[in-house]
Amino acid sequence: MKYDVAIIGFGPVGAALAGLLGKSGLSVVVVEKDREVFPLPRAAHVDHTGLRTVQEVGCLDKLLPKVVRNKRLDLLNADRKVLLSIPADQESISALPTSVYFYQPEFDTILREQATSFPSVEVRLGAKMTSVKNVQDGAEISIKTDAGEESLVHASWVVGCDGAWSPVREAMEIKLESSNFDEKWLVVDLLIDEVAEHLPVDHAIEVCDPARPYLSTPIAPNRQRFEFMLLPDEDEAHVRQEKVVGDLLSLWFPKGGYKIERSAVYTFHGVVAESWRRDRILLAGDAAHQTPPFLGQGMCAGFRDASNLAWKLCQVIRGRASEDLLDTYEQERSPHAQKVIESAIRIGKVICELDHEKAAERDRLLLAKDPATYQSLAFTLPRLDLGPMILSGGGSLFIQPMIDGRLLDDVVGSRFLVLSRSESALGTSAGWWRDTLGAQVSLLADLDSEALNHWFDRRKADVVVVRPDRYVLGISDNLDKMTNAVNSIFGSKDFAAMSATRQYMRSNG
Ligand SMILES: Cc1cc2nc3c(=O)[nH]c(=O)nc-3n(C[C@H](O)[C@H](O)[C@H](O)COP(=O)(O)OP(=O)(O)OC[C@H]3O[C@@H](n4cnc5c(N)ncnc54)[C@H](O)[C@@H]3O)c2cc1C
Repeated sequence: MKYDVAIIGFGPVGAALAGLLGKSGLSVVVVEKDREVFPLPRAAHVDHTGLRTVQEVGCLDKLLPKVVRNKRLDLLNADRKVLLSIPADQESISALPTSVYFYQPEFDTILREQATSFPSVEVRLGAKMTSVKNVQDGAEISIKTDAGEESLVHASWVVGCDGAWSPVREAMEIKLESSNFDEKWLVVDLLIDEVAEHLPVDHAIEVCDPARPYLSTPIAPNRQRFEFMLLPDEDEAHVRQEKVVGDLLSLWFPKGGYKIERSAVYTFHGVVAESWRRDRILLAGDAAHQTPPFLGQGMCAGFRDASNLAWKLCQVIRGRASEDLLDTYEQERSPHAQKVIESAIRIGKVICELDHEKAAERDRLLLAKDPATYQSLAFTLPRLDLGPMILSGGGSLFIQPMIDGRLLDDVVGSRFLVLSRSESALGTSAGWWRDTLGAQVSLLADLDSEALNHWFDRRKADVVVVRPDRYVLGISDNLDKMTNAVNSIFGSKDFAAMSATRQYMRSNG
Protein backbone atom coordinates (compact mmCIF):
# COMPACT_ATOMS: atom_id res chain seq x y z
CA MET A 1 0.00 0.00 0.00
CA LYS A 2 1.15 3.51 -0.73
CA TYR A 3 -0.01 6.05 1.87
CA ASP A 4 -0.82 9.63 0.99
CA VAL A 5 1.38 10.90 3.81
CA ALA A 6 3.89 9.30 6.18
CA ILE A 7 4.62 11.26 9.34
CA ILE A 8 7.83 10.47 11.19
CA GLY A 9 7.40 11.27 14.89
CA PHE A 10 4.26 11.27 17.04
CA GLY A 11 5.17 14.19 19.29
CA PRO A 12 2.63 17.02 19.56
CA VAL A 13 3.35 18.33 16.05
CA GLY A 14 3.20 14.91 14.37
CA ALA A 15 0.00 14.12 16.26
CA ALA A 16 -1.61 17.44 15.29
CA LEU A 17 -0.66 16.95 11.63
CA ALA A 18 -1.92 13.34 11.65
CA GLY A 19 -5.21 14.54 13.13
CA LEU A 20 -5.64 17.33 10.57
CA LEU A 21 -4.86 15.03 7.63
CA GLY A 22 -6.94 12.18 9.06
CA LYS A 23 -9.89 14.52 9.47
CA SER A 24 -9.65 15.27 5.75
CA GLY A 25 -9.72 11.53 4.99
CA LEU A 26 -6.17 11.20 3.64
CA SER A 27 -4.43 7.89 4.27
CA VAL A 28 -1.71 8.56 6.82
CA VAL A 29 0.88 6.38 8.51
CA VAL A 30 2.64 7.65 11.62
CA VAL A 31 5.98 6.08 12.49
CA GLU A 32 7.10 6.62 16.10
CA LYS A 33 10.09 4.98 17.73
CA ASP A 34 8.74 5.08 21.30
CA ARG A 35 5.66 3.27 22.55
CA GLU A 36 4.57 5.80 25.18
CA VAL A 37 4.30 9.59 25.12
CA PHE A 38 7.45 11.24 26.41
CA PRO A 39 6.83 10.99 30.18
CA LEU A 40 8.22 14.37 31.20
CA PRO A 41 6.90 17.75 30.15
CA ARG A 42 8.87 20.11 27.96
CA ALA A 43 6.23 22.49 26.58
CA ALA A 44 4.00 23.92 29.29
CA HIS A 45 2.33 26.83 27.54
CA VAL A 46 0.10 27.14 24.51
CA ASP A 47 -1.53 30.27 23.14
CA HIS A 48 -4.93 30.69 21.49
CA THR A 49 -3.47 30.05 18.04
CA GLY A 50 -2.28 26.62 19.18
CA LEU A 51 -5.62 25.96 20.87
CA ARG A 52 -7.25 26.74 17.55
CA THR A 53 -5.26 23.89 15.98
CA VAL A 54 -6.34 21.59 18.81
CA GLN A 55 -9.93 22.70 18.13
CA GLU A 56 -9.50 21.84 14.45
CA VAL A 57 -8.09 18.42 15.30
CA GLY A 58 -11.23 17.95 17.37
CA CYS A 59 -10.12 17.49 20.98
CA LEU A 60 -10.36 20.97 22.49
CA ASP A 61 -13.26 19.94 24.74
CA LYS A 62 -11.14 17.19 26.29
CA LEU A 63 -8.17 19.49 26.80
CA LEU A 64 -9.71 22.68 28.17
CA PRO A 65 -10.83 21.24 31.55
CA LYS A 66 -7.23 20.18 32.21
CA VAL A 67 -5.44 23.49 31.59
CA VAL A 68 -4.52 26.33 33.93
CA ARG A 69 -5.59 29.66 32.47
CA ASN A 70 -2.69 32.07 32.59
CA LYS A 71 -3.65 35.39 34.15
CA ARG A 72 -0.46 37.29 33.41
CA LEU A 73 3.32 37.33 33.29
CA ASP A 74 5.00 39.36 36.03
CA LEU A 75 8.56 40.53 35.71
CA LEU A 76 10.05 40.81 39.19
CA ASN A 77 13.33 42.20 40.42
CA ALA A 78 15.56 40.28 42.83
CA ASP A 79 13.45 41.62 45.75
CA ARG A 80 10.29 40.31 44.06
CA LYS A 81 9.00 43.76 43.33
CA VAL A 82 6.84 43.79 40.18
CA LEU A 83 8.66 45.67 37.40
CA LEU A 84 6.11 44.97 34.70
CA SER A 85 2.92 42.98 34.53
CA ILE A 86 1.82 41.69 31.12
CA PRO A 87 -1.84 40.61 31.19
CA ALA A 88 -2.73 37.33 29.51
CA ASP A 89 -6.39 36.97 30.45
CA GLN A 90 -7.76 39.46 27.92
CA GLU A 91 -10.14 38.08 25.31
CA SER A 92 -8.41 36.61 22.27
CA ILE A 93 -9.58 36.97 18.67
CA SER A 94 -10.14 33.20 18.71
CA ALA A 95 -12.81 33.34 21.46
CA LEU A 96 -10.50 30.95 23.33
CA PRO A 97 -8.22 31.63 26.30
CA THR A 98 -5.27 33.79 25.21
CA SER A 99 -2.71 31.67 27.02
CA VAL A 100 -2.89 28.49 29.10
CA TYR A 101 -0.52 26.11 30.90
CA PHE A 102 -0.77 22.34 30.73
CA TYR A 103 0.93 19.09 31.66
CA GLN A 104 2.49 17.87 28.43
CA PRO A 105 2.18 14.08 28.86
CA GLU A 106 -1.58 14.56 29.41
CA PHE A 107 -1.80 17.02 26.49
CA ASP A 108 0.12 14.68 24.13
CA THR A 109 -2.04 11.71 25.13
CA ILE A 110 -5.23 13.60 24.25
CA LEU A 111 -3.82 14.66 20.87
CA ARG A 112 -2.56 11.17 20.08
CA GLU A 113 -5.89 9.54 20.95
CA GLN A 114 -7.72 12.03 18.74
CA ALA A 115 -5.35 11.52 15.80
CA THR A 116 -5.63 7.73 16.14
CA SER A 117 -9.43 7.93 16.16
CA PHE A 118 -9.56 8.81 12.44
CA PRO A 119 -10.02 5.58 10.44
CA SER A 120 -7.56 6.64 7.73
CA VAL A 121 -4.73 7.18 10.25
CA GLU A 122 -2.52 4.19 11.05
CA VAL A 123 -0.07 4.60 13.91
CA ARG A 124 2.98 2.35 14.25
CA LEU A 125 4.48 2.73 17.71
CA GLY A 126 7.82 1.20 18.65
CA ALA A 127 8.83 1.65 15.00
CA LYS A 128 11.98 3.57 14.25
CA MET A 129 12.63 5.19 10.90
CA THR A 130 16.12 4.10 9.93
CA SER A 131 16.31 5.75 6.51
CA VAL A 132 14.22 7.83 4.16
CA LYS A 133 14.70 8.79 0.54
CA ASN A 134 12.87 10.37 -2.35
CA VAL A 135 11.80 7.95 -5.06
CA GLN A 136 9.68 8.57 -8.13
CA ASP A 137 6.38 10.24 -7.15
CA GLY A 138 6.94 9.67 -3.48
CA ALA A 139 9.30 8.56 -0.77
CA GLU A 140 10.47 5.29 0.72
CA ILE A 141 10.99 4.83 4.44
CA SER A 142 12.83 1.98 6.14
CA ILE A 143 11.49 1.00 9.53
CA LYS A 144 12.83 -1.21 12.29
CA THR A 145 10.49 -2.16 15.14
CA ASP A 146 11.61 -2.59 18.72
CA ALA A 147 11.09 -6.35 18.13
CA GLY A 148 13.75 -6.13 15.42
CA GLU A 149 11.44 -6.50 12.39
CA GLU A 150 12.36 -4.47 9.34
CA SER A 151 10.00 -3.20 6.65
CA LEU A 152 9.57 -0.57 3.97
CA VAL A 153 6.79 2.00 3.79
CA HIS A 154 5.88 3.99 0.69
CA ALA A 155 4.09 7.31 0.76
CA SER A 156 3.42 10.10 -1.71
CA TRP A 157 4.68 12.61 0.86
CA VAL A 158 6.73 12.38 4.04
CA VAL A 159 6.79 14.91 6.87
CA GLY A 160 9.61 14.74 9.41
CA CYS A 161 8.05 15.74 12.74
CA ASP A 162 10.89 13.97 14.48
CA GLY A 163 12.09 16.66 16.82
CA ALA A 164 15.19 18.72 17.39
CA TRP A 165 17.65 15.97 16.38
CA SER A 166 15.50 15.07 13.34
CA PRO A 167 16.91 12.00 11.56
CA VAL A 168 14.80 13.04 8.54
CA ARG A 169 16.58 16.40 8.41
CA GLU A 170 19.90 14.56 8.75
CA ALA A 171 19.03 12.17 5.93
CA MET A 172 18.19 15.14 3.70
CA GLU A 173 21.49 16.79 4.69
CA ILE A 174 19.65 19.95 5.64
CA LYS A 175 21.63 22.27 7.89
CA LEU A 176 20.30 24.47 10.67
CA GLU A 177 20.87 28.22 10.49
CA SER A 178 21.62 29.58 13.93
CA SER A 179 20.63 32.92 15.45
CA ASN A 180 23.75 32.52 17.61
CA PHE A 181 21.83 32.04 20.80
CA ASP A 182 22.88 29.04 22.88
CA GLU A 183 22.22 29.25 26.58
CA LYS A 184 22.08 26.53 29.18
CA TRP A 185 19.18 26.46 31.63
CA LEU A 186 18.31 24.13 34.46
CA VAL A 187 14.67 23.04 34.13
CA VAL A 188 13.08 21.69 37.32
CA ASP A 189 9.53 20.30 37.47
CA LEU A 190 7.93 19.92 40.88
CA LEU A 191 4.98 18.11 42.33
CA ILE A 192 3.83 20.38 45.12
CA ASP A 193 2.34 19.14 48.41
CA GLU A 194 1.61 22.57 49.68
CA VAL A 195 1.60 25.81 47.74
CA ALA A 196 4.51 27.93 48.90
CA GLU A 197 3.64 31.27 50.39
CA HIS A 198 3.72 34.06 47.76
CA LEU A 199 4.40 31.64 44.89
CA PRO A 200 1.89 32.49 42.15
CA VAL A 201 0.03 29.47 40.79
CA ASP A 202 -2.23 31.32 38.35
CA HIS A 203 0.42 33.18 36.40
CA ALA A 204 4.06 33.06 35.41
CA ILE A 205 6.91 35.07 36.90
CA GLU A 206 10.29 35.97 35.45
CA VAL A 207 12.70 36.98 38.16
CA CYS A 208 15.17 39.41 36.56
CA ASP A 209 17.86 38.87 39.17
CA PRO A 210 21.28 39.57 37.61
CA ALA A 211 22.79 37.13 40.13
CA ARG A 212 20.76 34.39 38.40
CA PRO A 213 17.69 35.07 36.25
CA TYR A 214 14.97 32.44 36.57
CA LEU A 215 11.33 31.88 35.89
CA SER A 216 8.46 29.95 37.36
CA THR A 217 5.25 28.82 35.69
CA PRO A 218 2.31 26.77 36.85
CA ILE A 219 1.84 23.60 34.78
CA ALA A 220 -1.19 22.06 36.45
CA PRO A 221 -2.92 22.58 39.83
CA ASN A 222 -0.22 20.70 41.79
CA ARG A 223 2.67 21.09 39.39
CA GLN A 224 5.13 23.95 39.01
CA ARG A 225 8.11 24.53 36.73
CA PHE A 226 11.25 26.51 37.54
CA GLU A 227 13.88 27.37 34.94
CA PHE A 228 17.21 28.72 36.22
CA MET A 229 19.81 30.21 33.92
CA LEU A 230 23.27 28.70 34.17
CA LEU A 231 25.90 31.36 34.66
CA PRO A 232 28.80 31.64 32.21
CA ASP A 233 31.27 28.80 32.77
CA GLU A 234 29.03 27.22 35.42
CA ASP A 235 29.46 23.47 35.53
CA GLU A 236 26.40 21.59 34.27
CA ALA A 237 27.01 18.55 36.50
CA HIS A 238 27.32 20.85 39.52
CA VAL A 239 23.93 22.55 39.09
CA ARG A 240 22.22 19.21 38.56
CA GLN A 241 23.19 18.05 42.07
CA GLU A 242 20.25 17.59 44.41
CA LYS A 243 21.75 19.93 47.01
CA VAL A 244 22.25 22.75 44.48
CA VAL A 245 18.72 22.33 43.08
CA GLY A 246 17.38 22.32 46.68
CA ASP A 247 19.25 25.54 47.45
CA LEU A 248 17.81 27.23 44.36
CA LEU A 249 14.27 26.13 45.24
CA SER A 250 14.63 27.20 48.86
CA LEU A 251 14.13 30.76 47.61
CA TRP A 252 10.43 29.88 47.35
CA PHE A 253 10.21 26.67 49.40
CA PRO A 254 12.23 27.27 52.57
CA LYS A 255 10.46 24.36 54.27
CA GLY A 256 10.43 21.94 51.35
CA GLY A 257 6.96 20.59 50.57
CA TYR A 258 7.66 19.44 47.03
CA LYS A 259 8.90 16.44 45.10
CA ILE A 260 11.26 16.96 42.19
CA GLU A 261 9.77 15.17 39.20
CA ARG A 262 12.80 15.87 37.09
CA SER A 263 15.63 18.29 36.74
CA ALA A 264 17.60 18.55 33.54
CA VAL A 265 19.86 21.01 31.81
CA TYR A 266 18.68 22.11 28.36
CA THR A 267 20.55 24.22 25.86
CA PHE A 268 18.12 26.78 24.48
CA HIS A 269 18.80 27.46 20.81
CA GLY A 270 17.49 29.74 18.13
CA VAL A 271 17.73 27.79 14.87
CA VAL A 272 15.82 27.42 11.62
CA ALA A 273 16.40 24.75 8.96
CA GLU A 274 17.97 26.22 5.80
CA SER A 275 15.40 24.33 3.75
CA TRP A 276 12.08 22.76 4.75
CA ARG A 277 11.56 20.56 1.73
CA ARG A 278 13.51 18.16 -0.42
CA ASP A 279 11.18 17.11 -3.22
CA ARG A 280 8.56 14.85 -1.50
CA ILE A 281 10.03 15.12 2.00
CA LEU A 282 9.18 18.03 4.30
CA LEU A 283 10.03 19.11 7.84
CA ALA A 284 7.78 20.48 10.59
CA GLY A 285 7.98 21.39 14.28
CA ASP A 286 11.30 21.21 16.12
CA ALA A 287 12.80 19.46 13.11
CA ALA A 288 12.39 22.74 11.21
CA HIS A 289 12.97 25.34 13.96
CA GLN A 290 13.78 25.68 17.66
CA THR A 291 13.34 28.72 19.83
CA PRO A 292 14.45 29.64 23.32
CA PRO A 293 11.26 29.10 25.35
CA PHE A 294 10.99 32.63 26.81
CA LEU A 295 7.71 33.20 24.96
CA GLY A 296 6.48 29.60 25.21
CA GLN A 297 6.22 29.49 21.42
CA GLY A 298 8.16 26.39 20.26
CA MET A 299 5.30 23.94 20.07
CA CYS A 300 2.88 26.72 19.10
CA ALA A 301 5.09 27.38 16.05
CA GLY A 302 5.03 23.65 15.29
CA PHE A 303 1.23 23.70 15.37
CA ARG A 304 1.29 26.59 12.91
CA ASP A 305 3.44 24.41 10.63
CA ALA A 306 0.95 21.55 10.91
CA SER A 307 -2.05 23.79 10.13
CA ASN A 308 -0.24 25.51 7.27
CA LEU A 309 0.92 22.24 5.72
CA ALA A 310 -2.15 20.06 6.24
CA TRP A 311 -4.52 21.87 3.89
CA LYS A 312 -1.83 22.37 1.26
CA LEU A 313 -0.97 18.65 1.23
CA CYS A 314 -4.67 17.95 0.97
CA GLN A 315 -5.19 20.24 -2.02
CA VAL A 316 -2.15 18.83 -3.85
CA ILE A 317 -2.97 15.17 -3.11
CA ARG A 318 -6.58 15.71 -4.20
CA GLY A 319 -5.24 17.16 -7.46
CA ARG A 320 -6.78 20.57 -6.90
CA ALA A 321 -3.49 22.44 -6.77
CA SER A 322 -0.06 22.14 -8.28
CA GLU A 323 2.94 21.17 -6.14
CA ASP A 324 3.89 24.87 -6.18
CA LEU A 325 1.39 25.25 -3.36
CA LEU A 326 3.78 23.30 -1.13
CA ASP A 327 6.59 25.76 -1.84
CA THR A 328 4.49 28.39 -0.07
CA TYR A 329 4.77 26.30 3.13
CA GLU A 330 8.41 27.19 3.70
CA GLN A 331 8.00 30.65 2.14
CA GLU A 332 5.37 31.50 4.74
CA ARG A 333 6.45 29.53 7.78
CA SER A 334 10.23 29.95 7.78
CA PRO A 335 10.39 33.78 8.08
CA HIS A 336 7.49 33.69 10.55
CA ALA A 337 9.28 31.18 12.79
CA GLN A 338 12.48 33.23 12.46
CA LYS A 339 10.71 36.43 13.59
CA VAL A 340 9.24 34.68 16.63
CA ILE A 341 12.69 33.32 17.53
CA GLU A 342 14.20 36.81 17.20
CA SER A 343 11.51 38.20 19.53
CA ALA A 344 12.20 35.46 22.08
CA ILE A 345 15.94 36.17 21.96
CA ARG A 346 15.41 39.95 22.21
CA ILE A 347 13.13 39.59 25.22
CA GLY A 348 15.33 36.91 26.78
CA LYS A 349 18.34 39.24 26.59
CA VAL A 350 16.48 42.02 28.42
CA ILE A 351 15.24 39.66 31.13
CA CYS A 352 18.54 37.80 31.54
CA GLU A 353 20.85 40.78 32.00
CA LEU A 354 23.76 39.64 34.17
CA ASP A 355 25.49 43.01 34.46
CA HIS A 356 24.30 44.43 37.80
CA GLU A 357 24.52 48.08 36.73
CA LYS A 358 22.67 47.51 33.47
CA ALA A 359 20.05 45.43 35.29
CA ALA A 360 19.53 48.22 37.85
CA GLU A 361 19.08 50.73 35.02
CA ARG A 362 16.59 48.42 33.28
CA ASP A 363 14.61 48.07 36.51
CA ARG A 364 14.59 51.84 37.02
CA LEU A 365 13.32 52.41 33.47
CA LEU A 366 10.64 49.73 33.82
CA LEU A 367 9.40 51.20 37.08
CA ALA A 368 9.37 54.64 35.39
CA LYS A 369 7.27 53.04 32.59
CA ASP A 370 9.86 54.10 29.99
CA PRO A 371 8.22 53.48 26.58
CA ALA A 372 11.41 52.25 24.87
CA THR A 373 12.11 49.71 27.63
CA TYR A 374 8.49 48.57 27.55
CA GLN A 375 8.80 48.22 23.77
CA SER A 376 11.90 46.06 24.13
CA LEU A 377 9.72 43.53 25.97
CA ALA A 378 6.69 43.72 23.66
CA PHE A 379 5.61 40.76 21.57
CA THR A 380 2.83 40.40 19.05
CA LEU A 381 2.62 37.55 16.62
CA PRO A 382 3.88 38.67 13.20
CA ARG A 383 1.72 38.37 10.10
CA LEU A 384 2.65 35.99 7.33
CA ASP A 385 4.54 37.81 4.57
CA LEU A 386 2.84 38.55 1.27
CA GLY A 387 3.28 35.74 -1.27
CA PRO A 388 1.36 33.57 -3.73
CA MET A 389 -1.07 32.49 -0.98
CA ILE A 390 -1.06 35.70 1.09
CA LEU A 391 -2.52 38.60 -0.85
CA SER A 392 -3.18 42.22 0.05
CA GLY A 393 -4.81 42.50 3.48
CA GLY A 394 -3.98 38.88 4.29
CA GLY A 395 -1.49 37.16 6.58
CA SER A 396 -3.12 37.30 10.00
CA LEU A 397 -5.26 34.78 11.81
CA PHE A 398 -8.94 35.44 11.17
CA ILE A 399 -11.23 36.18 14.09
CA GLN A 400 -13.44 33.44 15.44
CA PRO A 401 -16.77 34.80 16.64
CA MET A 402 -19.67 32.65 17.79
CA ILE A 403 -22.26 32.01 15.08
CA ASP A 404 -25.58 30.74 16.41
CA GLY A 405 -23.85 29.47 19.55
CA ARG A 406 -21.03 27.71 17.67
CA LEU A 407 -17.44 28.78 17.06
CA LEU A 408 -16.91 29.96 13.49
CA ASP A 409 -14.19 27.39 12.68
CA ASP A 410 -16.56 24.58 13.69
CA VAL A 411 -19.28 26.07 11.49
CA VAL A 412 -17.00 26.34 8.45
CA GLY A 413 -15.06 23.09 8.87
CA SER A 414 -11.65 22.44 7.28
CA ARG A 415 -12.16 24.46 4.12
CA PHE A 416 -11.88 27.92 2.61
CA LEU A 417 -14.36 30.57 3.69
CA VAL A 418 -15.35 33.24 1.18
CA LEU A 419 -17.25 35.93 3.02
CA SER A 420 -18.73 38.85 1.15
CA ARG A 421 -20.61 41.99 2.00
CA SER A 422 -22.63 41.75 -1.20
CA GLU A 423 -23.47 39.47 -4.13
CA SER A 424 -21.73 41.87 -6.49
CA ALA A 425 -18.39 41.66 -4.61
CA LEU A 426 -18.45 37.90 -5.28
CA GLY A 427 -17.88 38.68 -8.97
CA THR A 428 -18.06 35.70 -11.27
CA SER A 429 -15.79 33.31 -9.40
CA ALA A 430 -17.75 32.36 -6.24
CA GLY A 431 -18.93 29.18 -7.96
CA TRP A 432 -15.34 28.14 -8.67
CA TRP A 433 -14.39 28.51 -4.99
CA ARG A 434 -17.47 26.55 -3.92
CA ASP A 435 -17.50 23.80 -6.56
CA THR A 436 -13.81 23.29 -7.29
CA LEU A 437 -12.20 24.07 -3.93
CA GLY A 438 -15.14 23.10 -1.72
CA ALA A 439 -15.24 26.55 -0.08
CA GLN A 440 -18.06 27.84 2.06
CA VAL A 441 -19.33 30.97 0.31
CA SER A 442 -21.47 33.19 2.53
CA LEU A 443 -22.84 36.67 2.67
CA LEU A 444 -21.94 38.67 5.76
CA ALA A 445 -25.59 39.30 6.55
CA ASP A 446 -26.29 35.55 6.63
CA LEU A 447 -23.81 34.97 9.46
CA ASP A 448 -25.34 37.82 11.48
CA SER A 449 -22.28 38.59 13.60
CA GLU A 450 -21.48 41.98 15.06
CA ALA A 451 -17.79 40.98 15.35
CA LEU A 452 -17.62 40.10 11.64
CA ASN A 453 -19.39 43.31 10.64
CA HIS A 454 -16.95 45.28 12.75
CA TRP A 455 -13.99 43.40 11.20
CA PHE A 456 -15.21 44.25 7.68
CA ASP A 457 -15.86 47.90 8.59
CA ARG A 458 -12.43 48.39 10.16
CA ARG A 459 -10.71 47.07 7.04
CA LYS A 460 -13.13 48.60 4.55
CA ALA A 461 -13.42 45.09 3.12
CA ASP A 462 -16.03 43.96 0.62
CA VAL A 463 -14.91 40.36 0.42
CA VAL A 464 -12.43 38.25 2.39
CA VAL A 465 -11.06 34.79 1.69
CA VAL A 466 -10.02 32.81 4.77
CA ARG A 467 -7.83 29.76 4.19
CA PRO A 468 -8.48 26.37 5.81
CA ASP A 469 -5.71 27.14 8.35
CA ARG A 470 -7.80 30.22 9.34
CA TYR A 471 -5.29 32.72 7.99
CA VAL A 472 -6.69 35.51 5.88
CA LEU A 473 -5.68 34.93 2.25
CA GLY A 474 -6.67 38.47 1.29
CA ILE A 475 -9.30 41.16 1.22
CA SER A 476 -10.60 42.94 -1.82
CA ASP A 477 -13.49 44.81 -3.35
CA ASN A 478 -14.06 41.93 -5.76
CA LEU A 479 -13.44 38.20 -5.33
CA ASP A 480 -12.33 37.80 -8.96
CA LYS A 481 -9.16 39.78 -8.24
CA MET A 482 -8.11 37.24 -5.60
CA THR A 483 -9.20 34.34 -7.79
CA ASN A 484 -6.98 35.58 -10.61
CA ALA A 485 -4.06 35.99 -8.19
CA VAL A 486 -4.19 32.33 -7.08
CA ASN A 487 -4.89 31.11 -10.60
CA SER A 488 -1.46 29.74 -11.37
CA ILE A 489 -1.32 27.55 -8.25
CA PHE A 490 -4.83 26.19 -8.46
CA GLY A 491 -4.58 25.96 -12.22
CA SER A 492 -8.06 27.42 -12.19
CA LYS A 493 -8.57 26.97 -15.88
CA ASP A 494 -11.99 25.79 -14.77
CA PHE A 495 -12.55 29.25 -13.32
CA ALA A 496 -11.57 30.83 -16.62
CA ALA A 497 -13.84 28.39 -18.42
CA MET A 498 -16.68 28.97 -15.98
CA SER A 499 -16.29 32.75 -16.24
CA ALA A 500 -16.32 32.51 -20.01
CA THR A 501 -19.46 30.35 -19.92
CA ARG A 502 -21.18 32.75 -17.54
CA GLN A 503 -20.17 35.75 -19.67
CA TYR A 504 -21.48 33.95 -22.73
CA MET A 505 -24.75 33.08 -21.00
CA ARG A 506 -25.15 36.64 -19.74
CA SER A 507 -24.51 38.19 -23.10
CA ASN A 508 -26.85 35.67 -24.71
CA GLY A 509 -29.63 36.25 -22.20
C1 LIG B 1 12.37 23.17 28.69
C2 LIG B 1 11.48 23.41 27.52
C3 LIG B 1 10.34 24.19 27.67
C4 LIG B 1 9.49 24.41 26.60
N1 LIG B 1 8.36 25.15 26.79
C5 LIG B 1 7.52 25.35 25.78
C6 LIG B 1 6.28 26.03 25.97
O1 LIG B 1 5.95 26.40 27.09
N2 LIG B 1 5.45 26.22 24.90
C7 LIG B 1 5.79 25.78 23.66
O2 LIG B 1 5.00 26.01 22.73
N3 LIG B 1 6.92 25.10 23.45
C8 LIG B 1 7.80 24.86 24.47
N4 LIG B 1 8.92 24.13 24.27
C9 LIG B 1 9.18 23.56 22.94
C10 LIG B 1 8.37 22.28 22.71
O3 LIG B 1 8.61 21.35 23.72
C11 LIG B 1 8.75 21.72 21.36
O4 LIG B 1 8.67 22.72 20.38
C12 LIG B 1 7.79 20.58 20.95
O5 LIG B 1 7.80 19.55 21.89
C13 LIG B 1 8.21 20.04 19.60
O6 LIG B 1 7.31 19.07 19.20
P1 LIG B 1 7.66 18.12 17.98
O7 LIG B 1 6.48 17.24 17.83
O8 LIG B 1 8.14 18.92 16.83
O9 LIG B 1 8.94 17.29 18.46
P2 LIG B 1 9.08 16.25 19.67
O10 LIG B 1 8.14 16.55 20.76
O11 LIG B 1 10.52 16.20 20.00
O12 LIG B 1 8.63 14.87 19.02
C14 LIG B 1 9.45 14.20 18.07
C15 LIG B 1 9.02 12.74 18.03
O13 LIG B 1 9.76 12.08 16.99
C16 LIG B 1 10.12 10.79 17.45
N5 LIG B 1 11.28 10.33 16.67
C17 LIG B 1 12.52 10.86 16.63
N6 LIG B 1 13.31 10.14 15.80
C18 LIG B 1 12.54 9.15 15.29
C19 LIG B 1 12.79 8.09 14.38
N7 LIG B 1 13.99 7.88 13.83
N8 LIG B 1 11.76 7.26 14.07
C20 LIG B 1 10.54 7.41 14.62
N9 LIG B 1 10.26 8.39 15.51
C21 LIG B 1 11.24 9.26 15.82
C22 LIG B 1 10.44 11.02 18.92
O14 LIG B 1 10.40 9.81 19.67
C23 LIG B 1 9.35 12.00 19.32
O15 LIG B 1 8.19 11.33 19.80
C24 LIG B 1 9.80 23.88 25.34
C25 LIG B 1 10.94 23.10 25.17
C26 LIG B 1 11.77 22.86 26.25
C27 LIG B 1 12.97 22.00 26.04
